Amino acid sequence: MVAGVLLGCIADDFTGATDLANTLVRGGMRVVQTIGVPQRPPSENIDAVVVALKSRTIEPEQAVAQSLHALRWLRAAGARQIVFKICSTFDSTPRGNIGPVTEALMDELGCDLVIATPAFPDNGRTVFRGHLFVGDQLLSDSSMRDHPLTPMTDSNLVRVLQAQCRRRVGLIDYRCVAQGADSIRARMASLREEGFGLAVLDAVSNDDLMRAGPALRGAPLLTSGSGLAIALPANFGIAASEQAAVLPRASGAAAIVSGSCSVATQKQVAHFQRLGGRAFAIDPIAIAADGDSVLIKIIDRSVAALSSGPVLVYSTATADQVAATQARLGTNAAGAMIEQALARIAVALVESGVGRLIVAGGETSGACVQALALQELRIGPQIDVGVPWCHAEPVAGRSQGLHLCLKSGNFGGEDFFSRAFAVLDAQSRAEPAGFMHDAD
Ligand code: ADP
Repeated sequence: MVAGVLLGCIADDFTGATDLANTLVRGGMRVVQTIGVPQRPPSENIDAVVVALKSRTIEPEQAVAQSLHALRWLRAAGARQIVFKICSTFDSTPRGNIGPVTEALMDELGCDLVIATPAFPDNGRTVFRGHLFVGDQLLSDSSMRDHPLTPMTDSNLVRVLQAQCRRRVGLIDYRCVAQGADSIRARMASLREEGFGLAVLDAVSNDDLMRAGPALRGAPLLTSGSGLAIALPANFGIAASEQAAVLPRASGAAAIVSGSCSVATQKQVAHFQRLGGRAFAIDPIAIAADGDSVLIKIIDRSVAALSSGPVLVYSTATADQVAATQARLGTNAAGAMIEQALARIAVALVESGVGRLIVAGGETSGACVQALALQELRIGPQIDVGVPWCHAEPVAGRSQGLHLCLKSGNFGGEDFFSRAFAVLDAQSRAEPAGFMHDAD
């Protein structure tokens, strides 16, 4: 096994980072995801690191500075190839940040041509003649045209990217891709000669991405969604293996903290309760009136219930209930207050012996990860499409590591919570070789 990190990834948001990490693990790579740029080098025996930034919609200058910081850290860790992970719907503002960050990384790496493709066929994102489709619709006809932060009103990615770049942007079209890696390499060479610095790559299927893979071997930089990641491990001689997803053995009590009000989560919460799971609802209005005493009561009751099986603490509510709360407290104030309350509960549960924790909700996950002071997550087995278990080493003041699942709103089937714990238990029963047990 080669020492040092092989693939270094810089993701422009947190859940996108997890999606990429999950794909690489399924391709056989041992992967950690870091929350921002860590202070210390990554753990040993890792093939890929995904640095999760939150740089998608910040000012381009800040996105560039943060991405360069991540790049330098990844290169110091040995990374031989860099992936700048972008959204599969090419989410960006007219100024960036896909173009400015890609060009800054190119400047630093001395790279003369970069491939850019958000294609993710398994998720219905395909690129044809440079145009991005979401399912059967052009990007500009999809709901992305009304996105509150990054409305995408042009499906022509060559044009979108060109507007964000100093260098010329070209296209490697589907006919070239269909002919395989040699044809893609030849096209890249001619684009270089013609003075292009970036090229959008067509891909309408996983086969297209697999054909592109060998042509991108040794490229210093790729700008892509998580789709292309299916083709990257092979370039380092790595094949899919369940071993890559093996985490240290889980121990400790099990809990779920849910701040997601998405329909899928509502069903998961109801299903958990129907099966007789212990569940404690938090009432935002009561917390707003008398935060501390309400929270302390919930924490005491949920901690006391831990010995009898997984415990759920939730603010999950229907759209009508959410609207009523928002009308009383204000939308942003209610959201922030509930996130902080759930994060405090998550910390209390972990300090009381929870070693297996599911957090439901993207923003809620961010608040919990921050409150738990986690910096690095080893990515493990997938529970449902795009949602893996992770493991965090013990942090200061904590004796055991933490198994963590961060589920964004609409992911997962109805039985997600029970299935998630079953996936972890099954892996722990398999007694993985090569890992110290948490309890050791
Ligand atoms: P999702 O991934 O489903 O979008 P998030 O955690 O990202 O979930 O977002 C849910 C938001 O709704 C959070 O800001 C959370 O604090 C807020 N929230 C949760 N429960 C309630 C509630 N009962 N009333 C109002 N807002 C809520």
